[in-house]
Amino acid sequence: MLLHILNHIMLSRTFLLVLFICVGGVQEGARTPAGLINKYEVNGLQCWIITHVLWVANAQYFHWFSPTIIIDNWIPLLWCTNILGYAVSTLAFIKAYLFPTNPEDCKFTGNIFYNYMMGIEFNPRIGKWFDFKLFFNGRPGIVAWTLINLSYAAKQQELYGYVTNSMILVNVLQVSHVATRWHYKTTIDICHDHFGWYLGWGDCVWLPFLYTLQVYSLFYLGLYLVYNPIQLSTPHAAGVLILGLVGYYIFRSTNHQKDLFRRTEGNCKIWGKKPTFIECSYRSADGGIHKSKLMTSGFWGVARHMNYTGDLMGSLAYCLACGGEHLLPYFYIVYMTILLVHRCIRDEHRCSNKYSKDWVRYTAAVPYRLLPNIF
Ligand code: NDP
Repeated sequence: MLLHILNHIMLSRTFLLVLFICVGGVQEGARTPAGLINKYEVNGLQCWIITHVLWVANAQYFHWFSPTIIIDNWIPLLWCTNILGYAVSTLAFIKAYLFPTNPEDCKFTGNIFYNYMMGIEFNPRIGKWFDFKLFFNGRPGIVAWTLINLSYAAKQQELYGYVTNSMILVNVLQVSHVATRWHYKTTIDICHDHFGWYLGWGDCVWLPFLYTLQVYSLFYLGLYLVYNPIQLSTPHAAGVLILGLVGYYIFRSTNHQKDLFRRTEGNCKIWGKKPTFIECSYRSADGGIHKSKLMTSGFWGVARHMNYTGDLMGSLAYCLACGGEHLLPYFYIVYMTILLVHRCIRDEHRCSNKYSKDWVRYTAAVPYRLLPNIF
């Protein structure tokens, strides 16, 4: 059974790998700590669309496999993705010692456990185009996330003959979240993190299996939920939808504003005006001095991480879509709050080291992290 599922996983990963290599165009990433600029094959959205069109075509017309295949094989899949996650992290770890892609960008801390967990190589690659970080961060986990949700909706259809509004809400809100992820190459994962267990295992296992927990829990929290799929009242569903959409708007606009600002080097309009910014300089590991800009306009002038605020609003909406019968789905918003607050503090610590007194000027201009006057 396990071998059979592993075979399926390898087939699906190979399919994603072929798309990763064959579709899309090349773009430059941000400067690495050693001062290098890598090129990336940017095609996540196209690959995601092709995969989902094929999934729907199979469910509707071809019937090669059941659309409930994921939920029906949940536990074997969890085992197999774990095997893959550990295999990838271990390969990246060994590769960093034996044949690193850019030795200048490797970070050896002296603590072998930390090296394995947080990664040594910044951009491990095989050949010119297979970038571990870009592939694992933007493909298996994120593509699986929405496929898993679709598989749950199909299971509900199979069990009851209908799909509840709570299931539709979670599917729609998470699709909108996921479909915007590939637009931005300036995220911390891509620009600042090294590739180890944290990204390798996290992207293969944690991301798809935890983030779909709300949908999963609708079925398996116990007999009550199995036999009582949640149908929300119209005001409850409308409230969840509005919270989710407003969160999505803030999340997407904030990320878009930074992406546009960085891409055009400030020659753009944010909220109809030329953006204001703090001019910064920093030194890379090779000793070179570089210039950068920190925007103080748009959502980036409201607080320093409004993209996280929007993300948290969306996360709360997914939880509220699960009703109030059980606490487990609310684990997600607690987890996301801890993750994003910790991420915010970690990022600010890095930025403070990078920009030094320029960062102090920026934090004086934009004093709050997530919510004006609160935090
Ligand atoms: P950001 O996209 O916010 O990137 C932070 C970096 O942006 C900083 O390190 C700095 O990099 C640069 N920066 C900071 N302030 C400014 C400014 N004022 N103007 C211009 N550039 C600035 O971080 P993430 O990668 O963490 O987040 C990206 C998105 O992904 C967010 O929406 C987040 O919510 C989402 N996310 C979701 C997760 C989930 O599990 N659902 C997990 C992680 C992220 P530099 O050194 O280049 O100056």
